Amino acid sequence: ALSITGLRKRFGANEVLRGIDLTAQDGDVISLIGASGSGKSTLLRCIPMLEVPDAGTVSVGADSVSPKGGRLSRAEEAVARRMRGHLGFVFQNFNLWPHRTVLQNVVEAPLFVQNRSRAEAVDEAMVLLEKVGLTDKRDAWPAHLSGGQQQRVAIARALAQHPRAILFDEPTSALDPELVGEVLKVIRSLAEEGRTMLIVTHEMGFAREVSSRVVFLHQGLVEEDGTPAQVFGNPGSDRCRAFISGHF
Ligand code: ATP
Ligand code: MG
Repeated sequence: ALSITGLRKRFGANEVLRGIDLTAQDGDVISLIGASGSGKSTLLRCIPMLEVPDAGTVSVGADSVSPKGGRLSRAEEAVARRMRGHLGFVFQNFNLWPHRTVLQNVVEAPLFVQNRSRAEAVDEAMVLLEKVGLTDKRDAWPAHLSGGQQQRVAIARALAQHPRAILFDEPTSALDPELVGEVLKVIRSLAEEGRTMLIVTHEMGFAREVSSRVVFLHQGLVEEDGTPAQVFGNPGSDRCRAFISGHF
């Protein structure tokens, strides 16, 4: 579904990604873990080309982009736009449109990017709001929702795009502790449906439970890539072992 090869990204003298290879098959749930500054968010942002890599290739389905020197050609820009349309994003800080209601947030992309009919987009949005437990909030403003509710709207909005894969960057780390569970529960249900997901998380118990693979990044490289049992139970790298033991 999604593959990354030889991905490199630097910011000035700071080489943040130093040759990342990572493939997600359809239905894979990959947790990305690693210390602060190891490049997890940069990697996630490079997939939809929100940050343009210096080298390497990102493929989503049949679309593939290989930028050179942090730039996209016009033709690649068009492919990247199509790739973005096939991905859903849920980031740390909710990122809902503040001046649109819950329902309007969810139907935005289907209506204006994918040109679906309003009736169809609204019907589907209501199914998705049901899935995340928020049908009664359809006409609420984002500011009137809890952080956990806002994140669940963000998940419904991502699903409305019919994404091939969903990218999560610490979806629960800005939440009050009592709201973390309701968001993890929704993500867990997506895993059970066989959705392809890449999840940057510090919730190690969750990662162990829902992932098909766990990838440990260290200074811009994949240092460990295996099943949860391997990575949490018997990591090959001492740094990975130390990181994990600090998080349980
Ligand atoms: P955290 O766990 O704290 O979220 P992370 O693993 O997500 O960390 P990144 O946010 O990818 O780490 O950052 C990796 C490095 O890249 C850091 O040194 C950061 O300062 C740098 N960096 C990230 N984005 C930019 C940018 N837009 N401009 C300059 N430097 C950046
Ligand atoms: Mg980050």
